[in-house]
Amino acid sequence: MENIKLAVERARSAFNTGKTRPLEFRIQQLKALEKMVREKEKAITEALKADLHKNALNSFSYEIMGVLAEIDLAVCNLPKWAAPQPVEKNIMVMMDEAYIHHEPLGVVLTIGAWNYPFVLVMQPLVGAIAAGNAVVMKPSEISEHTAKLIAELVPQYLDKDLYPVVTGGVPETTELLKLKFDHIIYTGSSPVGKIVMEAASKHLTPVTLELGGKSPCYIDKDCDIDIACRRVTWGKYMNCGQTCIAPDYVLCDPSIEGRVVEGIKKALKEYYGEDIKKSPDYERIVSPRHFKRLMGLLEGQKIAYGGEADESARFLAPTILTDVNPNSKVMQEEIFGPILPVVTVKNLDEAIQFINHRDKPLALYVFAKDKAIIKRMITETSSGGVTANDVLMHFTLHSLPFGGVGNSGMGAYHGHFSFQTFSHQRSCLVRALNMEAVNKLRYPPSSQKKVDWAKFFVMKRCGKSKVGLVVFAVLGVLLAVAIKNRHSVLGLKRLAVALAGQRLWRLSGGCRNP
Ligand code: NAD
Repeated sequence: MENIKLAVERARSAFNTGKTRPLEFRIQQLKALEKMVREKEKAITEALKADLHKNALNSFSYEIMGVLAEIDLAVCNLPKWAAPQPVEKNIMVMMDEAYIHHEPLGVVLTIGAWNYPFVLVMQPLVGAIAAGNAVVMKPSEISEHTAKLIAELVPQYLDKDLYPVVTGGVPETTELLKLKFDHIIYTGSSPVGKIVMEAASKHLTPVTLELGGKSPCYIDKDCDIDIACRRVTWGKYMNCGQTCIAPDYVLCDPSIEGRVVEGIKKALKEYYGEDIKKSPDYERIVSPRHFKRLMGLLEGQKIAYGGEADESARFLAPTILTDVNPNSKVMQEEIFGPILPVVTVKNLDEAIQFINHRDKPLALYVFAKDKAIIKRMITETSSGGVTANDVLMHFTLHSLPFGGVGNSGMGAYHGHFSFQTFSHQRSCLVRALNMEAVNKLRYPPSSQKKVDWAKFFVMKRCGKSKVGLVVFAVLGVLLAVAIKNRHSVLGLKRLAVALAGQRLWRLSGGCRNP
């Protein structure tokens, strides 16, 4: 445990040297990470095979490609993301510089889960490096081969002090959580998310919690059910159902229940063949404990398809359940395995009610021809993300933030959102030392006149008209000159100028809230 403390201290000291501040350094580390992924692709796919029975092609598609794409995006966009971001100014600071400066937070802790054990550690790493942080990684002990490989490879390619990897399970994570970090990103279950957040609160450390939940999938009776079933089958049974945003259960009208079951059966045969156990595309349950948990969920359920299991191989066939009681265990906890309950609802209203009576899920899916149905689902429910007429695909778009809401998590990352998550947005105002006459307005002694002028200047600006801004600027200059010359610009004169300004402002499309 002393090693853990030392690794974190080393990361902090290395961060404090300031070497992560230049963008060149960050880009160089990102390129080194890319080199690692490319050169060690075979070792990575072998580790994933050993942990989850993933074949090399699926490992590349669902774990490695995403990391390479994320690195590429960060390398190409870092100068733009990190550049000072100018902001709108009010008349008081018209002549000054106002901008957001993105600064690194410090030392980030990333705790990964086992279901996509490589990408779930690497993707936050990319964003945290891009933002200039030191990063302590804690891969999941359950996917032990991948964890060991990450610990072995990272120091060979990246700065050894800035990016340590800590392996181990609950005791090691507990030890890590006692230490001070500047941000923690945790991927895993909601109960452990609470433990992480509680530990973080002791140091007032901000957290991003990437959790799970029961992601519903509503299939409308008037949509193309065959296509819906093909897409649901792909997303549900990928990685043996162990995907955080997999559709957890299907909601549909009783009149299409049979067609949904048949459609999924047909797609399963097409994707995995007659003997699914022999398919190179079908993964295994990660551990005997998780296998037992899933078998427990099947107890007392009506299996419409599948259900075959082999404990020694941790194989559980794609399974469909019908006539599911909404109060049964399988409908109370996240399934996170290849079991798909089909629950019937009378109509869209009942589906929305069903979803809203449960915790906010990580993802929500709706299949419907009618755009109004999709719109209602989006506006009348809540979830981390939504894909309509498909599943999982919102995850693949780096321009969308990825994260949960409520019980499915807080905060988000991916692409530019990762950079923002791992940066502090520092407000910077760099003023000039002249124009002191205008500044006199805010110095004591106070007076009603000064307040009136301050109100005039500081009023909120909505609308984007430049003409309005120019009018304000002219008025500001007039005021500065007037005060400087100690002329009395109050009374009627001032009123006239103010009213003229307001009138011009309105004509130019701006508005103000005093
Ligand atoms: P897990 O068991 O691998 O745990 C995740 C991490 O938490 C591990 O590194 C582990 O060491 C640590 N941990 C476990 N128990 C702990 C404790 N008591 N104290 C401190 N640390 C502890 O993964 P899991 O929780 O089984 O993961 C599955 C869950 O993760 C599912 O709910 C799934 O939906 C969710 N998930 C979410 C995302 C996402 O991006 N939102 C991605 C993958 C998985």
